[in-house]
Amino acid sequence: MSKKVQCPRMFCRSTDVEPVGVSKKAGLVKGAVGSLISPVVGVAGLLSGKKEATFLCKKCGHTFTVKL
Ligand SMILES: [Zn+2]
Repeated sequence: MSKKVQCPRMFCRSTDVEPVGVSKKAGLVKGAVGSLISPVVGVAGLLSGKKEATFLCKKCGHTFTVKL
């Protein structure tokens, strides 16, 4: 990754984030966490085979994924 990862949440935009998973692991983490936040995102995360990383924002606790 070359660009900085930033929290996508409005009014947060913190760059203080930490990776919690990459690639296939991200799909599992995203599926588990995502289904709690948004069922659609959780299912999409499990179905998609794209490489992406899951990040956790330390500022607001938001979990999000970034395509690599
Ligand atoms: Zn945040």
